[in-house]
Amino acid sequence: MDYRDFDNYTKHFPTSDGRFGSYGGAYLPPQLVTAFREIDDAYETICNSAQFISELRRIRREFQGRPTPVYHAERLSRKLGKCQIYLKREDLNHTGAHKLNHCMGEGLLAKYMGKKKLIAETGAGQHGVALATAAAYFGMECDIYMGEVDIAKQAPNVTRMKVLGARVIPVSRGLKTLKEAVDAAFEAYLNEYETAIYCIGSAVGPHPFPKMVRDFQMVVGEEAREQFRQMTGNHPDAICACVGGGSNSIGMFVPFLGDPVDIYGVEPLGRGSKIGDHAASMTFGKKGVLHGFESMLLQDDKGEPLPVYSIASGLDYPSVGPEHAYLRDCGRISYVTATDEEAVEAFFMLSRLEGIIPALESSHALAYAIRFARENSTGSILVNLSGRGDKDVDYVIEHYGYGDKYAD
Ligand SMILES: *Cc1c(COP(=O)(O)O)cnc(C)c1O
Repeated sequence: MDYRDFDNYTKHFPTSDGRFGSYGGAYLPPQLVTAFREIDDAYETICNSAQFISELRRIRREFQGRPTPVYHAERLSRKLGKCQIYLKREDLNHTGAHKLNHCMGEGLLAKYMGKKKLIAETGAGQHGVALATAAAYFGMECDIYMGEVDIAKQAPNVTRMKVLGARVIPVSRGLKTLKEAVDAAFEAYLNEYETAIYCIGSAVGPHPFPKMVRDFQMVVGEEAREQFRQMTGNHPDAICACVGGGSNSIGMFVPFLGDPVDIYGVEPLGRGSKIGDHAASMTFGKKGVLHGFESMLLQDDKGEPLPVYSIASGLDYPSVGPEHAYLRDCGRISYVTATDEEAVEAFFMLSRLEGIIPALESSHALAYAIRFARENSTGSILVNLSGRGDKDVDYVIEHYGYGDKYAD
């Protein structure tokens, strides 16, 4: 399929049972089916109401600081050749990344549903911070489940969540990381679903979450498409974004599906292609079910998720949003990879040449744009710069120094 086949795409995908082709769905314990159906029904009615739409619009403008700009990275482009690199500046969104886009949407939905509490798990803590921000804004309670190992590793984000008034609940079973935290958050939701709502951190999980998160993140691509057109009178030749669970990328990509634009999702190749050294689920995964949805999954012979790694903790998830798997099968989006080393090079190049310190996650998207600009002597590429890198500077200088080898 090419771009001409994508008119009205969002009206048909996902289907009412949450399918993108054969991916997606809702694999839930029977006790949770009703709770998820309630969210789905509420989402379909409330989110189309004029009142919801206008309130969300006001929140985006006045609280989040949207629209975020599109920026022409002229010095970086000139350094690489003649291809022009543009950035969609989600690093300038309130809290410094795109995650707030869906957290504010989920919080507003919770308010209209009369819920009093937001529940979620967090791994690296970025989702927990964004959700704690939304809970504070709406005056709701917020319970964040987090593995004890992650709590020890991510102290600054734990502090931020607590300052924002959230409860951070340590999970001490199993490996004490994200997987156990997801289980604990689901169990808590099961007990409290009449007064609380579960809020997922990416375009993953059982239906309706991949759809909801996509819809809330589409503001990124919609703005960027219009801004790029105003700046240049045209559309970019290519766009790219990093893919962890797939929320910033799907939000950027979907508004461009119907344009003659090449689309690249960039997965983390970490230290290389060996098991445990990367988190490139589209590139190396097989179809499977994890956390209540079907998609590409890095799994062993028994279907158990494999260990994953990336320098960017926001990208180390063994699966990916189901819509990505579908759009790849359609031939509309290409999935490529960038290593830790390439991401660090991009991190320093953008810092030194443009005065923008990108998140290590976003640095993967930028690394691909740099490769694209080196290989293409004309044209343009628009990168979704999903977040800012203040959270990453200590780690980077400890392991890579101040990047002088990338500076000239
Ligand atoms: C969490 C995060 C990501 C990865 O999540 P997606 O759902 O794939 O977008 C990317 N960039 C930043 C800055 C993040 O915090």
